[in-house]
Amino acid sequence: MDKYVLPKDNLSKFVSEMIGKYKVFAPVNDNNVTLFKQIKNPKEINLEFTNSKVPPKNLLFCQTETLFKFTPGTKGKIHPVDFDNGGRTVFGIRPCDAKSLAILDRVFKGDFEDPYYLTKRKNTILVGLSCTQPCLNCFCTSFNDSPASPEFVDILLTDIGDKYFVEVNSDKGKQLVKTMNKLFKSATEADGKKKKEVEKKAKDIITRFQKIDGITEKLDKIFENPFWETVANKCLGCGTCTYLCPTCHCFDIQDETTMTDGGRVRIWDTCMISEYTLQASGYNPRPARMNRVRNRVYHKYNYYPKNFEVIACVGCGRCIDSCPVNIDIIDVVTRAGEVKP
Ligand code: SF4
Ligand code: SF4
Repeated sequence: MDKYVLPKDNLSKFVSEMIGKYKVFAPVNDNNVTLFKQIKNPKEINLEFTNSKVPPKNLLFCQTETLFKFTPGTKGKIHPVDFDNGGRTVFGIRPCDAKSLAILDRVFKGDFEDPYYLTKRKNTILVGLSCTQPCLNCFCTSFNDSPASPEFVDILLTDIGDKYFVEVNSDKGKQLVKTMNKLFKSATEADGKKKKEVEKKAKDIITRFQKIDGITEKLDKIFENPFWETVANKCLGCGTCTYLCPTCHCFDIQDETTMTDGGRVRIWDTCMISEYTLQASGYNPRPARMNRVRNRVYHKYNYYPKNFEVIACVGCGRCIDSCPVNIDIIDVVTRAGEVKP
């Protein structure tokens, strides 16, 4: 992996040059909430964020996206839409959110390829920013990940004082640095040491831990256990935990029509509401909240690892921070591991 340093004075130039070439999305302050939005000026970036309220998955798997338009009726026609397929950069993505995209890739590049997601994914450069102040409910280290891991980004910047330590992890990253090589300097051994210190300090801030050893197999044995009722009793079925989760990817497809035209639209969905599995016959295979709460945990810790060999949680803590009744997935999974079958 190529390693450089970027003096902090050059950060603004680095971002400006990217803005000249790509659509750049970065964390910005929006009514006291950090969100990833397109920026036109480096001054818009909020570098003092812990993590964004909504994960940047929405830049690739949009909350609402028109798949195609159509003219209804006997002379009806389908009109393809020009979906966003230009070069783009996501600046400031955290290592956990970058991992979540690698998890989503398994679905959108699976048996059926999703051109809407994959085109954006292919054209996106991820310029990550290491966490130096993880949040209270962060637990990426439970999955042997690190708040300063370059594994899932093209370039990772780590704040080491008056400069950023830069790790280049892909050809896309190499290409980007090459076009702006005046801004970067070679990293010294001391810079590398400093990065390791910053990484250790960030890891030490993380105090929450989820016990996941053998959890996939354990869940096979406790599907009918009354434990799930006790978890579900508190849940309001609001869906916040799934909408804000960087690895959740369920969607619905609906036709929106007027008298003269229409569009087929994909929108985020949530398995936490009863309509999600409601069939046209009126039958619902997950009729009770318990079925839905249990499904959320099984999807992440049992079905996903069986299908794709990875747990579909990155330990970002968003679902814990935002659940209105304090349902805590660290606690739920750790307790599930202790339930007697
Ligand atoms: S389940 Fe919760 S902690 Fe895990 S990735 Fe989703 S939002 Fe983050
Ligand atoms: S955020 Fe909390 S209350 Fe809302 S659906 Fe998720 S677990 Fe239930």
